[in-house]
Amino acid sequence: MRKLNCWIAYDEQCDFSIYNIPFGIFSTKSKSPRVGIAIGDKVLDLAGVAKQGFFDSIKKLDKKTFSQATLNNFIALGKPTTKKVRTTIQKLLSSKSSKLQDFPKLFHKMSSVKMHLPVHVGDYTDFYSSIEHATNVGMMFRDPENALLPNWRHIPVGYHGRASSIIVSGESIRRPKGQIMPKGASRPKYAPCRLLDFELEMAFIIGKENQLGNPIPIEKTEDHIFGMVLFNDWSARDIQKWEYVPLGPFLGKNFASSASPWVVTLEALEYFRVKGPIQKPAVQSYLKCKGENNYDVNLEVYIAGEKQEDSMVSQSNFKYMYWNMQQQLAHHTVNGCNVRVGDMLASGTISGKDESSYGSMLEISWAGSKEVTLKDGSTRKFLKDNDTVTMKGYAEKDGVRVGFGEVRSKVLPAK
Ligand code: CA
Repeated sequence: MRKLNCWIAYDEQCDFSIYNIPFGIFSTKSKSPRVGIAIGDKVLDLAGVAKQGFFDSIKKLDKKTFSQATLNNFIALGKPTTKKVRTTIQKLLSSKSSKLQDFPKLFHKMSSVKMHLPVHVGDYTDFYSSIEHATNVGMMFRDPENALLPNWRHIPVGYHGRASSIIVSGESIRRPKGQIMPKGASRPKYAPCRLLDFELEMAFIIGKENQLGNPIPIEKTEDHIFGMVLFNDWSARDIQKWEYVPLGPFLGKNFASSASPWVVTLEALEYFRVKGPIQKPAVQSYLKCKGENNYDVNLEVYIAGEKQEDSMVSQSNFKYMYWNMQQQLAHHTVNGCNVRVGDMLASGTISGKDESSYGSMLEISWAGSKEVTLKDGSTRKFLKDNDTVTMKGYAEKDGVRVGFGEVRSKVLPAK
């Protein structure tokens, strides 16, 4: 990769290097929500950058898209334009003679801004694409000898989730209440969830729609993916267990999902492509893809109790995924289903082979049969009230780092 300099100083461990340039929506006390990019520990106001004429050479760019409270219209400009915006910003931040240096007020300290959900999510789909996670769940709840259901290696299994309850990092969630069937009881009770869990996931954001009735061929799928965020698919295991037969996840899932605020583009992740696992048996022709279609993104999960001290409970990697994003999107649309700009498609829990890489408390505690000890000495099988869950993710190769920041949310007691 070509080396780029940057006149904004940042630590080499910083997620938001000159190679990244992720897009997000921020506001300050005096500035309404608008488009920004993250560089080092600063946020650059793109509405302001556009106003000063720095994007004037980019055709088809309506400056007003940067003053909007979601990225949808910006993303909908299309990759040729959004790519130009990103590379223009890279040039403005690396050139020693950059005129952008004359506008220090366009930069805000990241700690001083409020971040918002980056896109209006019209539809949200959640896959189930980690073979290790699907196998673990199958072993726990069905048959250890036949942990994977017969369809699993043939289709990227998924379900349609709830878009309205997707929230941004920093917002708290409330422990849900619902129907739970106690062991040995003859009828369910209505009570707060006792087995509250996180799911370590990543989600991709649709950047280009397809028309209803027109599948996206697998070789075109990347044109339709704008970028990615970290994603915590909160799960109420006891509610889920009682309700999921026969139609699958419902209230055990739709009370909240948390997303990280900075959307890292596929272009920024290009350098970190790796081969995915070998798929056996061979997949259907519409799911066949060539080359390196997984991404080497290190993922970490932390839990902090009342003392706010983070303890790492999982260390996984996005590259473990059995089904990749191209296959997920090709499968999602193979029946003619249309996707729209801003839709979020989440990966499913990202677990690795090793116990230390399991992406949910369900797996880490093996359905509540073992405890995890946090730094403060307290133990967890599932999440307690006032726990804070933080997920972090970053790709790193040859000194180039592209990170996602974090998605952090606190669990409030049931109402
Ligand atoms: Ca999930």
